[in-house]
Amino acid sequence: MKHHKEEQTLVIIKPDGIQRILVGEIISRYGRAGLQLMAMKMMVPTIEMIEKHYTLDPEWRRLTGEKNIKAYQDKGLKHPHEGNPLKVTEIILEKLKSYMTSGPVIAMVWKGAHAVKIVRKITGGTEPLMSDVGTIRGDYVLDSYQMADEDNRAIRNLVHSSGSVKEAEDEIKHWFKPEEIVEYRLIQDEILYN
Ligand code: ADP
Ligand code: MG
Repeated sequence: MKHHKEEQTLVIIKPDGIQRILVGEIISRYGRAGLQLMAMKMMVPTIEMIEKHYTLDPEWRRLTGEKNIKAYQDKGLKHPHEGNPLKVTEIILEKLKSYMTSGPVIAMVWKGAHAVKIVRKITGGTEPLMSDVGTIRGDYVLDSYQMADEDNRAIRNLVHSSGSVKEAEDEIKHWFKPEEIVEYRLIQDEILYN
């Protein structure tokens, strides 16, 4: 079994993160937690890359639809497609394809103990209105499900990060060739893990 410190996760700085020049801020937040940057590249993704990225996990459609409907319910609102989470996600996926291909993104691989959960914690919840203060999404974005729905676009929330270890493994393979991931020794590992 691999040591916890070997866990890797995928982060994508979305087009709004690049446009708002928050790249340095975002990278520094993951780095200062003790995580190690293993790979990084900038590109304008194709529609096919984005569709594949979001549907690598066969459960993503159902879970994302249910999460959206629940977010409306938690605010005492009725979702227009309540009872049909797959329809909800179908609409979101179309919006995501145009958002994520609207300009350059930066994909990165970060490594360290509990990398997936630590990165999710630093990133914050999906809906910036409800993301905790101190998280990237909570500190730098003011978007909401309702506003994005009314304006007929994807939620702008600066970053994508893998939701589970399995999702991270699949996503890293989707975005990077094995030789693009650079193994190197960090001196700080002696302090963090020894
Ligand atoms: P996360 O990125 O936090 O893992 P999801 O996997 O549930 O969130 O959704 C993927 C992305 O789809 C979100 O980050 C967001 O940009 C977008 N999104 C999710 N729900 C909606 C929605 N109701 N309206 C618009 N965009 C949405
Ligand atoms: Mg997700």
